[in-house]
Amino acid sequence: MPGRQFLHVPGPTNVPDRVLAAMHRPMQDHRSSVFPELALPLFQDLKKLFKTTSGQAFIFPATGTGSWEAVLTNTLSVGDRVLASRNGQFSHLWIDMAKRLGLDVQVLEEPWGAGASPEHIHDALAADRDHAIRAVLVVQNETATGVTSDVAGVRRSMDSAKHPALLFVDGVSSIGSIDFRMDEWGVDGAITGSQKGLMLPAGLGISCFSQKALEAGNSARRNNPLRRVFFDIEDMQKANKDGYFPYTPSLPMLYGLREALDILFEEGLENVFARHHFLASGVRAAVRQGWKLETCSKAEKWDSDTVTAVMVPEGFNGADVISRAYKRYNLALGAGLSQVAGKLFRIGHLGDLNELMCLAAITGSEMAMRDIGIKVEPGSGAAAAEEVYRAAPEILAQKAA
Ligand code: PLP
Repeated sequence: MPGRQFLHVPGPTNVPDRVLAAMHRPMQDHRSSVFPELALPLFQDLKKLFKTTSGQAFIFPATGTGSWEAVLTNTLSVGDRVLASRNGQFSHLWIDMAKRLGLDVQVLEEPWGAGASPEHIHDALAADRDHAIRAVLVVQNETATGVTSDVAGVRRSMDSAKHPALLFVDGVSSIGSIDFRMDEWGVDGAITGSQKGLMLPAGLGISCFSQKALEAGNSARRNNPLRRVFFDIEDMQKANKDGYFPYTPSLPMLYGLREALDILFEEGLENVFARHHFLASGVRAAVRQGWKLETCSKAEKWDSDTVTAVMVPEGFNGADVISRAYKRYNLALGAGLSQVAGKLFRIGHLGDLNELMCLAAITGSEMAMRDIGIKVEPGSGAAAAEEVYRAAPEILAQKAA
């Protein structure tokens, strides 16, 4: 099909040409004396992304799933209890991993379409008088439902319950796109991957550990720790301190990460977050005001600035919209997963993206919906989004003033 594909799944996202160019280079010796000039600043600059001064960042050749495993296995012992909110497919998968690793998982079920509940977390922690719960697991942005949870609120609940548990946050589809403050929010294990806000191909599992998490790991090591070999951060720490890796790292991915971080810092993280917010506001206006459809997110406070899950009307299958958009309009949309399979389609709006790219996704989705018989007013999605996008520079200027 002529022209470029419009990639609007919530990851992988578009890789900017600058990043592609930075990755396109001959291989080099990863044990050379100059390699640390690439690696050492990456570890430091990732801390700016996580907004931490005291934490330690790690880069594994992996994906977000690997980062989940790295954080759990380097901090906890076999049989430890963890408290986890389940409000979508990704929180479900993380819980499943924790169980399979041998942790005792206390699950707080939340509706798919709601965020993690700080109140429920508070009550569970307050009831845990012996402090058996070692960690709280929260997915900041549930990519499956387009829901963002209030991590600062979770921290406040943990503090008000006076509970010493660690706080682990999955920021795979938020970090680098939606505000995340590791130190301020007292996050002990932060998790991300390379293929979303970082605008790279999949291939890096990036995590950041607080000093408290590192200390918990040291005591777990003395007390029947969860098994890990490849993901052992002790091996990483030994090699990373001099700017090396314990094995062969992916050179193109590291050069790409360098460029991606430079791009994010040149725009300014706060501007990146504001851009994601107004692009998302346009998509939401298209869905709610234009098409008069519902999102899976059940309240504005949970609306995600990186992905919008659009509920299709009764009698229609979201998979048909996705298939039509892909085959006819070269537009890739995200599918409904598990509990919400068929009930929705997802428009990813994160990474290297602007207003006109979002308008293409809106118009393509609208045409695909109409093609399969969903009754939406022609042009209504773009019309609603345009009003948001035309006002966006003023909104940003007001914010900056
Ligand atoms: N967590 C969230 C919130 C995700 O969106 C994803 C993937 O989309 C994952 C974890 C798993 O990441 P990966 O596919 O990089 O292993």
